[in-house]
Amino acid sequence: MRPPYLLLDVDGVLVPFPDEHGSTPATHARHDVAPTGRSTDDPVAVWLNPDHGHLLMDVIRTGLVTPVWCTSWRQDATTLIGPLLGLPTLPYVDLPRPQITTSHPNGYLWKRDHVDTWLGDAAAVWIDDDFTALDHAWARERTAHGTATLLIQPDPHDGLQSGHLTELTTWVSRLSAADAV
Ligand SMILES: [Mg+2]
Repeated sequence: MRPPYLLLDVDGVLVPFPDEHGSTPATHARHDVAPTGRSTDDPVAVWLNPDHGHLLMDVIRTGLVTPVWCTSWRQDATTLIGPLLGLPTLPYVDLPRPQITTSHPNGYLWKRDHVDTWLGDAAAVWIDDDFTALDHAWARERTAHGTATLLIQPDPHDGLQSGHLTELTTWVSRLSAADAV
């Protein structure tokens, strides 16, 4: 079996959204980065948890998944966010730039149609904070048709927790064990 893809979002997963008081978790440290097209004089603040780098590396080193960024940061996830977490250069899904005012223009995550095409018939675990019920239905349907698909949805204010990655490794270990039978 080809290892499932691990599709990894940034905002709301690695960079938590501030709460109503504008606070982010104390576990996260501020970095100022200049995304593509933005002047270094006008950087964007992002909050990252260094533990996420270690936790993700533990997953990546197992070789059980093929990690890929899947975020509106696109290539900047590879060049700006990953290095701040000590991650190697990872590929990214080159998402389109639709003119949308909501992340669910058709009732489901705007990335999904592109991801669905990009994945083809590949198994995948997708971590994103912004799935709707329609996305979960999509994952169930994919799985029912023989393409194992797991969605993991952190709370955007808390971001990724170690338990999410335990869920991931448990799922993927079962998959590869079932495949070996
Ligand atoms: Mg997000």
